[in-house]
Formats: sequence, structure tokens, C-alpha cells
Amino acid sequence: IAQADTPYYITEAQDVSQLIRSRKRFAFKNNFGHALLIAGSNGMAGASILAARACLRSGVGLLTVHTPVCNHDILQTAVPEAMVQNDVHEHYFAEPVDLDNYQAIAIGPGIGQEEETALATFDQLADCYIPAILDADAINIISSHRNYLNRLPRQSILTPHIGELERIIGKCNNSFERLTKAKELAAYLQCYIVLKGAYTAVITPEGKFYFNPTGNPGMATGGSGDVLTGIILALLAQGYPQENAARLGTYIHGLAGDIACRRMGEISLTAGDIIDALPEAWKILS
Ligand code: AMP
Ligand code: MG
Repeated sequence: IAQADTPYYITEAQDVSQLIRSRKRFAFKNNFGHALLIAGSNGMAGASILAARACLRSGVGLLTVHTPVCNHDILQTAVPEAMVQNDVHEHYFAEPVDLDNYQAIAIGPGIGQEEETALATFDQLADCYIPAILDADAINIISSHRNYLNRLPRQSILTPHIGELERIIGKCNNSFERLTKAKELAAYLQCYIVLKGAYTAVITPEGKFYFNPTGNPGMATGGSGDVLTGIILALLAQGYPQENAARLGTYIHGLAGDIACRRMGEISLTAGDIIDALPEAWKILS
């Protein structure tokens, strides 16, 4: 719903439900894209598992997770539907991936911030010609290597929470200042910024704000954001344009969080519960 003469919008159920594509009777899995998820490091396999499971629950055709050797068996066991590609490194992401077979890439959940990981991340993004979503440590890496900021692939989706955003734009005194600076960053990078929290704002490179009404404080728990990354990755791989992928992904993530909250309560809610509620959320919206 557009508020007259302002760049501020609230994303409503009908806005996003009409974006959802139905699957054709004679569909093949290659109609729904092959997603690449670069995630996980020693002690952070969970981030890659959560993002992978959320991706697979959001309609992707195929998913490959690129992760260090130490996570191989864990991922193959926890997420049998995903393919796993080992990095050369035992403990963290160190070697960029050839993108030829993929329709979209997500990078960041649980990758850590080793210098080698930072270099591999920049190499990966420098040649990136498919839609990309950057989250978590990929954003942290960018904020500590600012000279790379203007080399990010245009039209990428960045999904910082407030802390991650302020590491790039500096501490803000209030939410208005934060939103204004986030808009300037989105314009400078020509990227989409999904500023996460209550009423997550999807900010476009042109300066539109889409506020998301779904979600609840029970989602303020480790791994919630990794679930969002997996969902948006699935949508990008299926060919949804960036703006639609960010808005629909954010809405469905919050809706699943609300369903999970009714089932489990705000206090007990975990990121895995959000994934378990995704089927219900997709059924409601589609
Ligand atoms: P992260 O901090 O990366 O794990 O991301 C947390 C996720 O949970 C984001 O998608 C947030 O929008 C969501 N979230 C966290 N706290 C709240 C809240 N109070 N209300 C609604 N959503 C929230
Ligand atoms: Mg996060």
C-alpha cells in the first residue's frame, strides 16, 4: 500500500501473494534454479544448515553448499537434500567458486572473518554475474575493508541487522538518521538493503522504503537471519527480481516466525522453528 507522495510503503499480504509463481504441471527441477550458498566455518556449521534448510523449503530446484572440509559430513547428514562442495580449506572459506552452473549466490552466514576468507569473498564478488545476497560475516568483512565497498556487484541484496549496518555507516543517533544513511548507502552501492529488526525495511537503490509488518520479538534469536538468507537465495535462484525477492522473502520469513511463535511461544522460539513453519506460511500466502 503506497502512502501518497512519500517513498514509504508497507508490504501487505496481497502485495506479496500476487508475486508468488505457481508451478507448472510439467515442471522440472531445473526450472527453479540451482542456488549456491557459501556458508559455515569451524564451529559455525549451524548457520549453513539453517540457511540451506530454509532455502530448500522455499522452492529452489537444486542447492549446493560450499563450505570448509570440516563441515562436509555435518551438512550431508543434517541436510541430505543439499549437495556439498568442499572448500580447499579445512576450517573456513578460502577459495572462490566457479559460478557457471548457478542462478544465484548467497554468501556470509557463519563464514567468519579470517583474512583469507575476506580475500576469497572479494574475489568471489568481483566476478559475480549472477544475483547475489550478502549477509552476516560477508557484510562484516566489507565494513572492515571499506575500499572494496564500491566494487560490490550492483543490484546485490545486503541483509544487515542494525549492528552490521552501523559498522558500515557509523553509529546513528536515531532510527530516522539510520534509515536516511541506509538509503544513501543503497544509492551509492546501487544495491538493495534489507535493514533487519522489527518492521524490517527493504530499501531500494532508488530510495523506496518497504516496511515489513510480519515477525515478532521471539525471532530475536541466533540463526533467524540465516533463515532469511536461505529464503531470499531460493527466490533469486528461481528468477524473482531482487526487489520482489527481498520483499516476499522478508514477509514470508516474518509470517513463518509468527506461526512458529503461536506454536512455541516467544520465549522458546528458535530459528529451526521458523523453518518448520515455512510450509504453513507458503501455503497461506500462495
Ligand atoms: P539476525 O540478527 O541476522 O539473526 O536476524 C534476525 C532476524 O529476526 C531478522 O530477519 C529480523 O528482522 C528478525 N527479528 C529480530 N528481532 C525482531 C523483532 N523484534 N521483531 C520482528 N522481527 C525480528
Ligand atoms: Mg545474522
